[in-house]
Amino acid sequence: MRTPIVAGNWKMNKTVEGSLQLIAELLPLLQDTAGVEVVLCPPFTSLWAAHQALRGAPVGLGGQDMHWEFSGAYTGEVSAEMLLTCGCRYIILGHSERRAYFSETDETVNRKLLASLKIGLIPIVCVGETLQERQGNVTQQVVRQQVRGAFTGVEPADVSRVIVAYEPVWAIGTGLTATPAQAQEVHAFIRALLSESYGTAAAASVRIQYGGSVKPENAGELFAQPDIDGGLIGGASLQAGPFAAIVKATVNVSREA
Ligand code: PEP
Repeated sequence: MRTPIVAGNWKMNKTVEGSLQLIAELLPLLQDTAGVEVVLCPPFTSLWAAHQALRGAPVGLGGQDMHWEFSGAYTGEVSAEMLLTCGCRYIILGHSERRAYFSETDETVNRKLLASLKIGLIPIVCVGETLQERQGNVTQQVVRQQVRGAFTGVEPADVSRVIVAYEPVWAIGTGLTATPAQAQEVHAFIRALLSESYGTAAAASVRIQYGGSVKPENAGELFAQPDIDGGLIGGASLQAGPFAAIVKATVNVSREA
């Protein structure tokens, strides 16, 4: 049985003070989350303070990106070890904003993914098609290439540690959400792809999150789909009430299952 996971991607939002305030508002609302993994991904500058504030809480911490090298002359970058020692257990990789604005490619996502596994971080690797690609009926080709690219060289023993986030680019921050049926179709496709490479049992152990304008109102229906294992939440993770309500919806779905 897969434990659903809800992660908040704060993107380039919140100072240290703002991060601590949001965490203080969230913690009382996230007491009864058994059966769901909850993760916060603040900006790098807030990670250490967030780590201190989350001590003992049932909430994990993640970074939003990292470099694939472990150290060296890479001005402006942070390494997997830096994140790990800042209290991170998770790392978002290949977010569509990184692919679109910072030249992230399947190859760099793959290098980062392999480095994250090597050091013991749990990668959340993002894949998803643009609106143009969906309208051109190439969603499956695009997702296949991104998934295969990301998983190149991942050993069978490590597959179940990787989390995939299916995030249709047209749904990110736009208020447009994939319907539960549209999302389920791609999630099932991703699981089938993993099954081709690693076998049914390994594919069945991989958690696949949905991301793209998830809100308290649509979370329950999306996360009730058989191949959707929680969500990666952007905008709605910046406010305590909506994020906690999304977590609550996930808890309810997992308890009903
Ligand atoms: C995201 O950026 O990963 C995301 C899903 O954003 P939003 O929830 O705002 O669409």
